[in-house]
Amino acid sequence: MTVHIDGRAIAYEVRARVAAEVAAAFPDPATAPGLATVLVGEDPASAVYVANKRRAVREAGMRDLHRALPAGTTQAGVAAVIDELAADPAVDAILLQLPLPPGLDAAALIDRIPAGKDVDGLTTHSAGLLARGEQGLRPCTPSGVIELLESTGVTIRGANAVVVGRSALVGHPMAELLLQRDATVTVVHRHTADLAAVTRTADILVVAAGVPAMIGAEHVKPGATVIDVGIHRTDNGLTGDVRIAELDGIATRVTPVPGGVGPMTIAMLMVNTLRAAGHGQSARCSRS
Ligand code: NAD
Repeated sequence: MTVHIDGRAIAYEVRARVAAEVAAAFPDPATAPGLATVLVGEDPASAVYVANKRRAVREAGMRDLHRALPAGTTQAGVAAVIDELAADPAVDAILLQLPLPPGLDAAALIDRIPAGKDVDGLTTHSAGLLARGEQGLRPCTPSGVIELLESTGVTIRGANAVVVGRSALVGHPMAELLLQRDATVTVVHRHTADLAAVTRTADILVVAAGVPAMIGAEHVKPGATVIDVGIHRTDNGLTGDVRIAELDGIATRVTPVPGGVGPMTIAMLMVNTLRAAGHGQSARCSRS
């Protein structure tokens, strides 16, 4: 039988642990960890994502320090806001919501965020700490995948792990996190010659290609754990990169979309915000 990993339940537990740690460590709500979300422009999807993050911050008992900037804000204007938040000791964590409106250089703006406040783990500095295996804040989605694997008892050490996709946001840090946990890691991408031949070696298959329904039974080794990071909005709701129904009876565990990896991203943002404020053992990943 193929188990569907319940990302909503695991995310709920992580968020409850963060809330408990915040309550214990910060009896005065005025000094609780503060996350500054920066939203530039009026992109409707980004507005929803930021609203969800802000609600999660408040539900965890942390401080919601939002900055909304008009769509026409210049590179220097956004930079000035980030610099102000970076210098403010009352701000523990900064998240610049992506994508930015055309004309703004996201990488340059992200790199103004100090590594200690970089709760998305996307600055060059944070990526370097990850690559060297040093303490730092890790990108939320791949951290959430590790949390899902570890909390459902999947053995990472010694496993053959294949990551489909090599983006700075998901695939690349995913591979690093699996490597640090002693998996044997292979990364495949759009130029890989025989994708199925490689994915069929995977005990743990993490799919983050952003291609709807690209992975099916022919890509999966019997007994594998398959994690679907992809998210696609369709007329029938959200779907992923994996044809999950085909894996029934083949994979040991799969993550559904929705309700798998998605909820973990916000949960790990809460963990990172608490860590940025100098606390937090709320998730297994926080020990890396
Ligand atoms: P991206 O487009 O930046 O990167 C996609 C990667 O997949 C690239 O490295 C590319 O080489 C590879 N790829 C593309 N087509 C491929 C193919 N046919 N075969 C093999 N490899 C292929 O995307 P991203 O930002 O990494 O996001 C990937 C997916 O994950 C998207 O669907 C995105 O919406 C989703 N996502 C979900 C969450 C979440 O919270 N669940 C968070 C971030 C991204």
